[in-house]
Amino acid sequence: MLVFDAHCDALLKLWSDEKISFFQDEKSLHVTVKDLWQGGVKVQLFAIYIPERVAPSDRFTVALKMVEIFHERVLAQEKMKHVRNKRDIEALKESEIGAMLTLEGCDAIGVEETYLKTLLRLGVSSVGLTWNHSNAVADGVLEERGAGLSSFGCRIVNLLDENKVWTDVSHLSKKGFWDVMELSSYPIASHSNAYSLCRHPRNLDDSQIRALISKNSMIGITFVPDFLRQGGRATVSDVLRHLDYVCSLGGERNVGFGSDFDGIDETVEGLDRAGKYDHLANTLLRYYKEEHVHRFLYQNFFDHLPY
Ligand SMILES: [Zn+2]
Repeated sequence: MLVFDAHCDALLKLWSDEKISFFQDEKSLHVTVKDLWQGGVKVQLFAIYIPERVAPSDRFTVALKMVEIFHERVLAQEKMKHVRNKRDIEALKESEIGAMLTLEGCDAIGVEETYLKTLLRLGVSSVGLTWNHSNAVADGVLEERGAGLSSFGCRIVNLLDENKVWTDVSHLSKKGFWDVMELSSYPIASHSNAYSLCRHPRNLDDSQIRALISKNSMIGITFVPDFLRQGGRATVSDVLRHLDYVCSLGGERNVGFGSDFDGIDETVEGLDRAGKYDHLANTLLRYYKEEHVHRFLYQNFFDHLPY
C-alpha cells in the first residue's frame, strides 16, 4: 500500500549531527531511505523546524542550512525526488520516492515576508504558522495569551494562498485556528489528533475537526504517544481509534497520517519507524475495505494538494 506521510522531523536530526546518514542510519533516524522503501512511503514531507534555542537572528540562516541538507543528504539519495505538487508526484517512477519540503513554524522568517517568499521559491509546499509558542504571525497552542493572527499573519496566509501552498494549523492557538479557517483557501492540520479521545492541547476538538472537514481540508493523525492516549503504551489500536473518530464526524475523505517520526522520542508499539507503515496498513486492512485504506494512507492527502 502507498503511503503519504504529512510530517517528519528528519531534517532537524540531520542538521543536529552531520555524521548521520539518511540512507540507513537506523539508530539515529526513524525515517531513512530504507524505511521509506520498506514502509511503502511514496511521499514524505520533511519539515524545516528551527529549535527555540537558536537565536532569532540566526533562524533564517538555519532554515537555509536545512534546505541545503534536504538537497545534499536527502535528495542526494538516488530514489529520492523533490516534489511540490500533484504533477511532480504523478511523474515519479515506481522506484522513486517523493520528498516535499515544509516549514514548521514561521519563527524562521521573523517579520520578513521576503524570507518566506524565498523559502517558497526554494520549494516549501506547506507552512505551519507557529510551533507551540508565539511569533510575529500568531500564538502557538501553549501560549497563554492565546492570540490569533496578527496583521502580518493575515498577509502571510494570503501569500500562501496566492502561491497555492498549504497553511498548516497544527500547533496553532485556538483563536489562530479560527482566523485561518476564515481566511485560508488551503488549510490542513498535518499532525494532530482528536481531543475528545485524548485531552492534549495539541489535539483538535470536535468543532475544529468539523470545521476542517466542512472546508474540505485534511487532518493527519499523528503517532505522538501523548496525543494518542493518556497513560500506558500507545498502540496501533489507538491510532485506529483517532482515525475512526474523525471518520465518525464525516471525515472519511479528510483524514490521513502525519507521523511526526524523528520529532518524537516515545513511539507507538509496532509503529516505531517509517519502515513499519506496513504493520499499520495490515491492521487497517482487517477493519476497512482496501479502497478506504488506500484513501487514508495515501489518496486523501494527495487529492487535497492545492495543485
Ligand atoms: Zn510538530
